[in-house]
Amino acid sequence: MSSDRREGQQETTVNGNGAVGSNSQPVAPTTMRATATKNSGQRLRQNPNNEHRPDSYEDLQLDFPNSMYSSLEKYLPPSILVLSREEKVKFMTEIMLRHLPHGERSRAQRHKDYRQKIISNYQPLHRELYTLVPALCFVPTFINAINEGTEESIKSILSQPSTGVFIDNFEHWVGETKFRIMRPNTMNKYGAVLDDFGLDTMLDKLMECFIRPISKVLFNDVGGATLDSHHGFVVEYGKDRDVDLGFHVDDSEVTLNVCLGNQFVGGELFFRGTRCEKHVNTATKSDEIFDYCHVPGQAVLHRGRHRHGARATTAGHRVNMLLWCRSSVFRELKSHQKEFSSWCGECFCEKEEEKGRAIDALRKKLFKVARVTQA
Ligand SMILES: [Zn+2]
Repeated sequence: MSSDRREGQQETTVNGNGAVGSNSQPVAPTTMRATATKNSGQRLRQNPNNEHRPDSYEDLQLDFPNSMYSSLEKYLPPSILVLSREEKVKFMTEIMLRHLPHGERSRAQRHKDYRQKIISNYQPLHRELYTLVPALCFVPTFINAINEGTEESIKSILSQPSTGVFIDNFEHWVGETKFRIMRPNTMNKYGAVLDDFGLDTMLDKLMECFIRPISKVLFNDVGGATLDSHHGFVVEYGKDRDVDLGFHVDDSEVTLNVCLGNQFVGGELFFRGTRCEKHVNTATKSDEIFDYCHVPGQAVLHRGRHRHGARATTAGHRVNMLLWCRSSVFRELKSHQKEFSSWCGECFCEKEEEKGRAIDALRKKLFKVARVTQA
């Protein structure tokens, strides 16, 4: 048995992250619209006020995805709606926190304190990274293709380098301050969550303005057009860092994986077919085997459910930035779907086999009818 087949057959892990608000699904406003708020006695509206134009919350450091505040604002009672943006945030945060189970709630509070501590202590080395200036981050051909937004233009940039940012400051800071960093996910012991360092607004913009238009064309079958939250982090591989990464699927609909550098040997990604939850441990087919060598400054975009892993980085030091993009709409729809996922390699084969069997049965039946008529 080749090692490739073993990779396809070994247990596939779902790589999740422990951060509040990114591991759990965003709470849809509809689930809490009729709820009374304990302290103020204010109730959310039964139905959204669609005429109301919500405030923008993008520039704030919030406990929940910024877009949730804008969505929830349409449900605010008139007396709250006239308050300042900060007061509305307070009101909405209280509501959202109350809808989390108790354990989650204290975890959310701890995570809030943790973020606050970082923001007030950490001195960014590259302030310009905190606002996404396309002209500084992307090559012109990439920006033009996104602006054009057609399938043809998107596909024309697929093999082109996209971003070239460098983040080299924070491990040094971690070492100096002896700060205990929450690591980005269940599988990496090094690296950090970029959102915790105040980069969530920038990453939201990266997802909304760049990843979503591409995913709409390439990954529409897994909610590519409706990506609405993210988990952004960096991982480090090499000596004194993580060495490799086991076979897994991401807790995302679409994953952006950018190689930031530097000099390294090894660390190839291996991909082994996209699978739904039911089929995640089924064997790899030969046409699903795909290995990819990282190139600093280049990015890979793939479905989160595309099974993959990273081989050992045998020399040097490799840093990658990951952006897990999620769609609450897709997750909601998926929870109601009982059978066949169009994007799962195994579901697709089962469906084809079923079709084959049906055609076969029909052929036999017709043959029988023909013989009876002849006789
Ligand atoms: Zn399947």
